[in-house]
Amino acid sequence: MSSNVSIRNNGTGSQSIAAGNGPQSNSNGTGTQNNYYGYAAHPVPSDGRHTEGVISDPSRPTRRGDFRIALICALPLEYDAVALQFDEFWDEDGEEYGRAPGDTNSYTTGRIGNHNVVLTVLPNMGKTAAAGAAANFRCSYPRLQLAFLVGICGGVPIVGSHEAVLGDVIISKNVIQFDFGRQFPNKFVTKNTLEDKLSRANKDIRALIASFETELGRERLRGKAGEYLSKLQVVATRKRRRNAYKYLGVAEDKLFHATYQHEHRAPQLCNVCQGQTENHCEEAARASCADLRCDEGQLLSRDVLEVKLGLSPEEIQCPEIFIGRIASGDTVVKSGEHRDQLAEQYNVIAFEMEGAGAWDEVPCIVIKGICDYADSHKNKKWQPFAAATASSVMKAVLGRYSTTDRPTSA
Ligand SMILES: [Zn+2]
Ligand SMILES: [Zn+2]
Repeated sequence: MSSNVSIRNNGTGSQSIAAGNGPQSNSNGTGTQNNYYGYAAHPVPSDGRHTEGVISDPSRPTRRGDFRIALICALPLEYDAVALQFDEFWDEDGEEYGRAPGDTNSYTTGRIGNHNVVLTVLPNMGKTAAAGAAANFRCSYPRLQLAFLVGICGGVPIVGSHEAVLGDVIISKNVIQFDFGRQFPNKFVTKNTLEDKLSRANKDIRALIASFETELGRERLRGKAGEYLSKLQVVATRKRRRNAYKYLGVAEDKLFHATYQHEHRAPQLCNVCQGQTENHCEEAARASCADLRCDEGQLLSRDVLEVKLGLSPEEIQCPEIFIGRIASGDTVVKSGEHRDQLAEQYNVIAFEMEGAGAWDEVPCIVIKGICDYADSHKNKKWQPFAAATASSVMKAVLGRYSTTDRPTSA
């Protein structure tokens, strides 16, 4: 693993099977019936070999049962970044495929590379909304093989011997649901009886993820993601989108010491921040670091950002991809100390709120871009870029994924 120095080119010359290239296939399309719907799904061989048999059919589907891939976003901002990755829409002239009775999701259908995909945005954030939406998905699209939960997350900045920076992307190897019991700004009481680990991803998803853990697999994925990111930015600008999804620059990627708080400080008086009890100051949380004069002398210097300074614009913004365990919970982590404590306790590399909900309903891969460091200084500045890098990695992952034949067409 060489995440912080392996800045490679952005896919030129890559041998990877790009989304949109010819039919994908695999040589092992039968016999495995271990996902939720009884249809096996397999990664494209990591050496890129094509074997006989057409697996994906990217032509316009005639019915909901023809869709295999679901995309779920929690925020409109995430949805916008994912929609920019579509190569074609199937619903430009109106909703064509309908919904099952009782399904309250609103769907966008189209094609990304070789895959017909159906996208929804949750009515609100969190586990319950994600579980509900995923269950609805299953009713309306009974033959889904895989759902991607795509969007933004809070990242753990030090991951083993690597440094993760804003815009880097996390792919879930598994998801752990953590419960705080009760949360305080500086102190956390966890329910120590709860180690609510969700079940393992199914075998096919594990095989796909494992292919990205190889040097070659990750290099290809990263190269393609960089390419899709640049394209997304061009399209967003051309369409005059509200966000240009630009990389904000190394100087804007600020990581404070875990113990250094974002709070009102003298001469600004605040009973909450300067009080003896550990209460959360909403007003401080809404203020920027500049407003509160957070001391930049408390910033950590990071090697990976130093390396970025010497790179071309395309290379600087190309996200590093980390594969690991994601912590999912209904509480937002807003403290560097708490973040580090949870990261150590649960061996997690990111925090988000929907994974645990979707995970138990559909075979799911969580792909999330780091928009903040889950500390008290967190703000929304990096959200559009992180949503864009996540959607780019999602598209790159899709390009390496082959769904299996319908039984009738085998
Ligand atoms: Zn305050
Ligand atoms: Zn601050």
